[in-house]
Amino acid sequence: MSTTVLKFGGTSVATPEAIERLASIVSGVAGDRVIVVSATAGTTNALIAAANAAGAGDAEGAEAAVERLQREHDLLYQKVVRAKVDVVCAGLQELAERTKALLRSVGLLRECSRRSRDAILAYGELASSEIVAAALRARGVEAEPVAATGIVVTDDAFGNAAPVFDETYARATSVLGPMLRAGQVPVVTGFIGATRDGVTTTLGRGASDYTAAILAAALRADECLIYTDVSGVMSADPRIVPSAKPLPQLSYAEAAELSYFGAKVLHPRAVLPAVELGIPVRILNTFAASDAGTTIVGEAVPDGSVVKATTSLGGLALLTVQGAGMSGIPGFAAKVFDTTAAQDVSVLMISQASSENSICIVVPADTVDRLKDALERMLAKELAHHDVERVAVERPIAVVAAVGDGMRGTPGVAARVFGALGRLRINVVAIAQGSSELNISFCVAEADQARAVRAIHDEFHSSSATRPSASGTLVS
Ligand code: ASP
Ligand code: MG
Repeated sequence: MSTTVLKFGGTSVATPEAIERLASIVSGVAGDRVIVVSATAGTTNALIAAANAAGAGDAEGAEAAVERLQREHDLLYQKVVRAKVDVVCAGLQELAERTKALLRSVGLLRECSRRSRDAILAYGELASSEIVAAALRARGVEAEPVAATGIVVTDDAFGNAAPVFDETYARATSVLGPMLRAGQVPVVTGFIGATRDGVTTTLGRGASDYTAAILAAALRADECLIYTDVSGVMSADPRIVPSAKPLPQLSYAEAAELSYFGAKVLHPRAVLPAVELGIPVRILNTFAASDAGTTIVGEAVPDGSVVKATTSLGGLALLTVQGAGMSGIPGFAAKVFDTTAAQDVSVLMISQASSENSICIVVPADTVDRLKDALERMLAKELAHHDVERVAVERPIAVVAAVGDGMRGTPGVAARVFGALGRLRINVVAIAQGSSELNISFCVAEADQARAVRAIHDEFHSSSATRPSASGTLVS
């Protein structure tokens, strides 16, 4: 019998209509089914705010926030079980009480540790699994809520815990296997796990996808379906490129490159456990369930495309350390990157020409002032001796990335990318290409971001009729 893991994200469990669709999707899948759910949209954020409030001493405000969530959840529950009278779900009740008690103790201590926060956040997914299981039962599906704290064993890095795979896989089979054999549909909480000692942990924001992939791998599932509110990964952000199309298939490497630059559909690490075992992961739309979506596979299947998707990220700054005295001095780059690390600044792009006269790094714009100060302090001697001329900043900058496995070994891709930009007179500030050759990234002024994305998308995705004519003007 086939096994399918179906994960439903926050918006797919947040309203009676969404849960209605979820139920019909689940009913339409044959074989064994394991459901993984996120907290309802907005709940995790509200819980984080409540935990922070309690940590700052406002336990009352925090409890009131949980009471609001509880009312929302009760209402959702009543609607999805189609209760005629006001029934309350004992499970939901108990969860809210426990969470309020946690917030009260945090409030008394005026300190919210990561460990306490994880225990508080777990409320979101636990409540969802109660509601969704009840909704499915009301529709004749023998569903049972299951807390992943009894399955996903993690280390104690609260807030961003790493699963211990072998133990998790063993527990997944021992907990879920008998349920499946008995014809039940487990509705498992995403996002949360527990240490070996049973202390609740979370796997990082957005990690319900990760839970789904872990369970799919553990059960050697045939497919892992990630239901969200968009029809897969698009060839570009449709707000920038209205003609962007959903991509039928992406390799794991392509998905990784894309997600890095803001294609927010999923975190690639999250699907790795499934993809590694050759289990296809499909991203599908709860609200348009017949759309084909995007399938993520381990190895690229050549489909003739070159640049498959174009993505971009704004709000950045380009910092250049420049000076003739830098060339040939070992350890210079290390000094620069030691400083970014010490300042806890994440670097999105690096470029250094072989003349070694300058190192360019792209960082979030709101970190660049402190980074510049720190670099000037670090390089005070070099600046005084004019080995380093200056530490310069340009902002606001955007990084645009053209991504596709088909770029590897295909000559002329860079020429087409930069030719398309040149024709539109878009100035390129810095360029980087990793040796994996499946991503060409470059910086433009943020004001050019959208035009640059459209230029590349048009170059690689339009039919020949919309390609530039010989005279360089666009013919349509
Ligand atoms: N509820 C968690 C979050 O908002 C996990 C998830 O939605 O995947 O981060
Ligand atoms: Mg999510």
